[in-house]
Amino acid sequence: MSPRALIKYPDPGLQEPCEPITEFGEGLRQLADDMVEIMRDEAGIGLAAPQVGDGVRFTIVDVSGGADPDQVLYLVNPRVELEEGEEREEEGCLSFPELILAVRRPARIVVAAQDLEGNDVSIEADGLLARCLHHEIDHLAGVLFIDRVSPLKRDMTRRRIAKRIRAGDW
Ligand code: ZN
Repeated sequence: MSPRALIKYPDPGLQEPCEPITEFGEGLRQLADDMVEIMRDEAGIGLAAPQVGDGVRFTIVDVSGGADPDQVLYLVNPRVELEEGEEREEEGCLSFPELILAVRRPARIVVAAQDLEGNDVSIEADGLLARCLHHEIDHLAGVLFIDRVSPLKRDMTRRRIAKRIRAGDW
């Protein structure tokens, strides 16, 4: 059992930029293992460190949804190097239970990052993987998916969330 737990909106820790990772040791490996466990428990396809209370630039992505352990990507200090095109699709976020929003994101991206050992890696992605990577890298800048919808939609969504929090349904 991991002592870490999923953090939900509107926790302020989700809305702050994260710090770069400089040490590639056992602590990072433990964070990665804890995050995989939480992502699996929640049936997610991606999770960023601030979502488990660690304000560091680290994220994991598994668009197989747990079907294929080899597909888990571990991205340390990731950054989007190139964006192309645009797609508007529905997506969710583990920090926003059962909330689905249609969000515009680049159709194709190139991401530069490091792996758990500190080696440089580069990932080219389109479709769901591009969307997921972009969503998770946003988290590391304190940017949430409600920040990427129109101000009107954002206000409506915030009101709906406040109502659900008051009702104990969040
Ligand atoms: Zn998210």
